[in-house]
Amino acid sequence: MFTCEYCNSILKTLGSLNYHKKTSKSCIKIQKEKNIIINTEVVMNCEYCKKEFIKKFNYNCHIVTCKEKQKNEFSKKLNDIEDLKKELEDLKKRNLQLQKELEEKEKIIKKRDTAINLKNKALATFLRIYFNYLKIMGTEINIETQLSCSKRLIDFDG
Ligand SMILES: [Zn+2]
Ligand SMILES: [Zn+2]
Repeated sequence: MFTCEYCNSILKTLGSLNYHKKTSKSCIKIQKEKNIIINTEVVMNCEYCKKEFIKKFNYNCHIVTCKEKQKNEFSKKLNDIEDLKKELEDLKKRNLQLQKELEEKEKIIKKRDTAINLKNKALATFLRIYFNYLKIMGTEINIETQLSCSKRLIDFDG
């Protein structure tokens, strides 16, 4: 025998008691007066520990303290930390790679600078010989001519 906790009706089975609670108009009226909502569709589940709650208030209280939820969040944080560690490792590798690339580029620039220096030296020697030749040939050359001549040669060369 089962007694309805709201209206004290006596039912033979648990199934019929549940059916009574959901369907008996007089019982539902008492439930409403006591401000209790019986509606199996409204049952809320804690997504972490699967506990069931009929009242949203109880659910809200539970969700703050649910151990499973805390465990879940803790492992999430651990995962986040692992992800960050991996990201850091990747960045370190990338940094190393970039450093190598930079070293290679610096080598190339150094080589190019050496080549430019050699070219400038060759050009200067050529100009010295050329101006000496002009002097020997008796050609008057002032500083402006020398400068424009150097400039033309450099332009031509570059
Ligand atoms: Zn009842
Ligand atoms: Zn829970």
